[in-house]
Amino acid sequence: MTDFDAHMHTLKLRVTNPRKTIFEALSDASEPLSIGDIQKHCRDIDRVTLYRTLEMFTKNNIVKIIHIGWKKQYELTDLFQPHHHHFRCTTCQDISHVSDSEVEEAIDTISIRHGFTVTSHQFELEGTCRYCLTGNTNRELLNK
Ligand SMILES: [Zn+2]
Ligand SMILES: [Zn+2]
Ligand SMILES: [Zn+2]
Repeated sequence: MTDFDAHMHTLKLRVTNPRKTIFEALSDASEPLSIGDIQKHCRDIDRVTLYRTLEMFTKNNIVKIIHIGWKKQYELTDLFQPHHHHFRCTTCQDISHVSDSEVEEAIDTISIRHGFTVTSHQFELEGTCRYCLTGNTNRELLNK
């Protein structure tokens, strides 16, 4: 994984406290965050700085915008965390990671078949999670 400070240095961008704090909030998260979620982790940072930083991060391949449902959410790019996709449950809004190699192999196979060179891809899968499907809200029990 790429080091944040080193990446910023390569881009000739300064590592300021707000930038570092926002990066860390995204880095600590196990799922994509909305602006509101990020703000909760960065209470000392004003909204304008937050928006500007996220815009700068997006331009510089640090953060990617994920459109989950109608909401815009933010997540670190593949430079800073392992490549994956998301399952989003439309009932409980739970987001889980999908990192099955079959998905990536299928994309390779399809792109070769069409003579297309894929440099990046993004997709999210929506539906019903197994907890909502069974009506069992006790995740602990089901996981046993
Ligand atoms: Zn993710
Ligand atoms: Zn669910
Ligand atoms: Zn993929």
